[in-house]
Amino acid sequence: MTAGGAAPRERTAELAEALAAVRARIAAACAAAGRDEREITLIAVTKTFPASDVRLLAGLGLTEVGENRDQEARPKAAECADLPLTWHFVGRLQTNKARAVAGYADVVHSVDRSRLVSALSDAAVRGGRTLRCLVQVSLDEEEAAQGRGGAAPDAVPGLADEIAGAPGLRLGGVMAVAPLGADPVPAFTRLARIATEIRRNHPDARIVSAGMSGDLEQAIACGATHLRVGTALLGGRRAIVR
Ligand SMILES: *Cc1c(COP(=O)(O)O)cnc(C)c1O
Repeated sequence: MTAGGAAPRERTAELAEALAAVRARIAAACAAAGRDEREITLIAVTKTFPASDVRLLAGLGLTEVGENRDQEARPKAAECADLPLTWHFVGRLQTNKARAVAGYADVVHSVDRSRLVSALSDAAVRGGRTLRCLVQVSLDEEEAAQGRGGAAPDAVPGLADEIAGAPGLRLGGVMAVAPLGADPVPAFTRLARIATEIRRNHPDARIVSAGMSGDLEQAIACGATHLRVGTALLGGRRAIVR
């Protein structure tokens, strides 16, 4: 696939085909799991792809967009401000970027520590916005050790309570990335159990953000409600395009 260079009409056709293929995978996975497709929200992770792709995807009916770096997301969201989109911030977030991210993001998937809860809460209140926040769960000790993000499972209920009690924030649920190179099913199963536990105190926190291009079927089988799909929709991320 060509990313930035294709003529708009060609690129639209490419994206439409990829979107149809991803939707077919979702439909098949839902059928296999006995789930209703309407339970699934597809987020297009558009990192490294230009705002023009976001615009084309919006034209194809996509409403959810995900980004992982503030530097890139902020101008892209500004360029697309006229579109009816929901912006999901899915990457590692430094507290000093909380204010900027709270300016355009609707959902933050990567809340993994108390300091970030307070920074996002302050930012949301100052900006007069409400941010839906997910607790990112680390399902891999190695991952936590390498600082790739995510709270240890036993810290998740406490963080969920903090978010639920923070002005300007609303607890949406949980998020995880499956450990690299391993079977994702045990990780997604564990995430589902944690999500169920959180819902005992927070019945509205129904979002389970799991599943990417390579493991969306397993995520759906394990109860995911939100899929974060980049490569399968937009193509390979070789070129950095802005
Ligand atoms: C990039 C990214 C994705 C999308 O990954 P693909 O494998 O390209 O679908 C999903 N979640 C997060 C947190 C990401 O950074």
